[in-house]
Amino acid sequence: MTELNTLGLAEARDLLRKGETTSVELTEACLKAIEDAGALNAFVHKTPEIAMERAQAADTRIKAGDAPAMCGLPVGIKDLFCTKGVESQAASAILEGFKPEYESTVSQQLADAGAVMLGKLNMDEFAMGSSNETSTYGNVVNPWRRGNDDAPLTPGGSSGGSASAVAADLCLAAIGTDTGGSIRQPAAFTGITGIKPTYGRCSRWGIIAFASSLDQAGPMTKSVHDAAIMLEAMCGHDPKDSTSADLAVPDFEAMLTGDIKGKKIGIPREYRMEGMPAEIEQLWADGTEMLKAAGAEIVDISLPHTKYALPAYYVIAPAEASSNLARYDGVRYGHRAQLAQGDGITEMYEKTRAEGFGHEVQRRVMIGTYVLSAGFYDAYYNRARRVRTLIKKDFEDVFAQGIDAILTPATPSAAFGLGEMTDADPVQMYLNDVFTVTVNLAGLPGISVPAGLDKQGLPLGLQLIGRPWEEGDLLNTAYALEAAAGFVAKAGKWW
Ligand code: GLN
Repeated sequence: MTELNTLGLAEARDLLRKGETTSVELTEACLKAIEDAGALNAFVHKTPEIAMERAQAADTRIKAGDAPAMCGLPVGIKDLFCTKGVESQAASAILEGFKPEYESTVSQQLADAGAVMLGKLNMDEFAMGSSNETSTYGNVVNPWRRGNDDAPLTPGGSSGGSASAVAADLCLAAIGTDTGGSIRQPAAFTGITGIKPTYGRCSRWGIIAFASSLDQAGPMTKSVHDAAIMLEAMCGHDPKDSTSADLAVPDFEAMLTGDIKGKKIGIPREYRMEGMPAEIEQLWADGTEMLKAAGAEIVDISLPHTKYALPAYYVIAPAEASSNLARYDGVRYGHRAQLAQGDGITEMYEKTRAEGFGHEVQRRVMIGTYVLSAGFYDAYYNRARRVRTLIKKDFEDVFAQGIDAILTPATPSAAFGLGEMTDADPVQMYLNDVFTVTVNLAGLPGISVPAGLDKQGLPLGLQLIGRPWEEGDLLNTAYALEAAAGFVAKAGKWW
């Protein structure tokens, strides 16, 4: 029999319901895999007692014929989600030892649906980064390696722990968050599926805030089918989050027919970036052919403001972050610096924030404070907001022309080596999100599907962008693409 931890959500759920395995067995298999995978540094707070308790409760529920969507399925939770009584640190030293008194809505909904929490997953500090190298816990390692080369690679970021854990079968699925690409880019770097839903689809309550107008939670899974199951359990209206939409949650799983005949798929010419590797171009062309062969109509489209997306994002996201992170002052939560005789409250703030925040977070706070300052507010922040409106309008225009979904590469490269970009200009790192940030700025749903391998044997992903609130349709198009791409490769186990 296949090892239980290698199963996806759909397969494990069916086995559980048929009585062919138990949640306790699934959970034990995952806990063992986690113990063996210390080298990946994916799980940073393990919760085996909670996991076993929930697994036993799930088995009792299943025996009683009450098996909700995620019942008995072991999953990992990004450290950005507040989990009651369990460390929730956003991978930052400033939140050292913080154990919330409350549970985030998304993780609560998963628990209510019977999911088993295995522990908290590593990430970039406050979700700022694309390589998981800004974490206070140290970087995550990608289970994939290049050909015969042992050099450790990044799993991407900021949800790098979630991506690595799912790709290495330490859990059946995980949750991530995506502010500018943090679900889709790591999914692409590790050969898994990741969807960022429409802004407002999932509650942000209890998720440590980075940039509130962009942040969304989403599933990171081994298949599109699993993403549909998990998304349905995670999302829905929450009165505790005023930006969560009061809309019914469709049965996403039932919408997976694989039939995309007559769907109009847009190929945006502005995403053909200069200097893009030939392999990425090829993957994109192959994906286009696959959707065409499945009966979709391919349409060339234009999203003219694309080139302004990254600069606008790197004004808006730091602006919101500088405001959100003002609460970490050494007074209320986490770390407080050791003070010297005569230090006052200003010294306490300064020392605490200097010690508690890493360099990337400090950089963002400084940029954010600058673009919001009286003299520069109009020149930067207001201008970026206007650009954001234009980017959103680009998408509205193509959807008004009847486009159902847009196909693009997920990332401009495959996973890169850890440390390779640390000395580079930070803008090099920011370029990782060139294809994904537009989607957050416009509040749209986007999914990354593994679609091929590069010549060094590393996974590459394609992104599909959908109409707002039409995750069901988007998942179905992704399902067709997944079937056509037939991506089955796994990282060879070296850890
Ligand atoms: N890499 C981007 C950033 O550093 C996006 C991060 C995210 O989506 N959380 O801001």
